[in-house]
Amino acid sequence: MDFYQNLWNQTKDVLQENFAEKTFEEMFSEVNKVVKEENGLIYVLTPSTLIKTKINNIYSKKIAEILAGLTSQKLKFKFVCEEELSSPVKEVKKTPFSFNKNNLNLNYTFESFVVGESNRLAYVTSMKIVEQPGVFINPLYIFGGIGLGKTHLMQAIGNFLSEKNLDSKILYVQANDFISDYIKAVQTQNMQSFEEKYENLDVLLVDDIQMLAMGNKSQQEFFKLFNDMTTRQKQIVITSDCPASKLNGIMDRLTSRFQMGVSVDIHQPDLNQRINILKRKLLENSTKTVADDVLIYIAENFKDNVRELEGGLNRVLWYSEVYNTEITLEMAKESLDILIKSQKTKENNNYENALSVISNTYNISLADLLGKSRNSRYVLPRHIAMYILKNHYHLTYTKIGSILNGRDHTTIMNGCNRIEEEIKTDSQLKMAVDSILKKI
Ligand code: ADP
Ligand code: MG
Repeated sequence: MDFYQNLWNQTKDVLQENFAEKTFEEMFSEVNKVVKEENGLIYVLTPSTLIKTKINNIYSKKIAEILAGLTSQKLKFKFVCEEELSSPVKEVKKTPFSFNKNNLNLNYTFESFVVGESNRLAYVTSMKIVEQPGVFINPLYIFGGIGLGKTHLMQAIGNFLSEKNLDSKILYVQANDFISDYIKAVQTQNMQSFEEKYENLDVLLVDDIQMLAMGNKSQQEFFKLFNDMTTRQKQIVITSDCPASKLNGIMDRLTSRFQMGVSVDIHQPDLNQRINILKRKLLENSTKTVADDVLIYIAENFKDNVRELEGGLNRVLWYSEVYNTEITLEMAKESLDILIKSQKTKENNNYENALSVISNTYNISLADLLGKSRNSRYVLPRHIAMYILKNHYHLTYTKIGSILNGRDHTTIMNGCNRIEEEIKTDSQLKMAVDSILKKI
């Protein structure tokens, strides 16, 4: 064991030379002990999950470089906390939709978030927030394009804080759900459940704030909530598709308050980061190995949106499952053909554009929109897609069926009928369909 302990001590010395004293003290002063070595992994004990996560996300590359300089053996440091050692973490694969009591997706953590140039600022700022929520930065305003990890990062803050303090009242809400909650409360003249949901929160996470533009009265209500939280020094995190100064249709006194805190933006990841994201997703969701040339092919073809990137990988995995074939570059090309085509034709006014608008509106990937899963998250958007392809693009049921992964024409007909009936009575659904049509 001395050998491994020695390696860590030496690595620490190099780290100390490389980083400012304050950083080094904060991160590594209490990271001392090597607890074991197993299969080439050297387990190093860290004092908290926060330190562990930070080391993994920000410093792991540097640490690996240093280690490689010290030994020619194939070794890697693994940073762990006390709890993991006493009760070994079960390496269960989480299902894609496991939510905790705060309605947060448990897979959206800091650890599963791949950090690179495109999102480092947003990431580091979020980590700062969880150290002392409500104190330094309020609100945190994260903005950027679709599918770049805003919701993931916001929920990582929520998950982290909820783990740290099980009793804190954390609410994640999409801005349009805030509007419907409010409208429902007013219409039924029952403010009680609305108030119960939104009062005395410790942390408020509001996703896609640009949607608030749809409700005037709701904005006033949100203004009250916002002021109440900031006065009590409770943390607010907001995401948006644009900077606060560019928000359209949202009252000035709100947008100016959004600018009181700190704004950070997330850009598109570069090729290297996209490959890292694919590797990470593969590790989380599959036991399969995928060769680098396939990963590179996927990463090169899905540049703008991490959700689509992930969807590309899932489609390749799914293909190999269904057709029981090896994952080769050839097979990846074949399975991704339709997705890549629709990426390229986004600008044109054709149905592929409609499909990508629908999948973005519902925060799902194109592969999932067209795919086989019957999860309710996908079924409604899929039916809307059928309806729009029929009524807006006048495609035949058979053609729509073939676009939607070979569904038969009665399935398509039923989907179209469902939406046609429901928009007569469901004003929200009608609003959603209208807003999609406006975008295409
Ligand atoms: P946005 O809210 O910006 O539209 P999401 O947070 O919903 O995007 O991200 C879309 C998908 O991409 C999610 O499955 C998320 O886990 C994944 N994702 C985005 N960025 C990253 C990243 N840096 N590392 C890992 N996964 C990411
Ligand atoms: Mg989002």
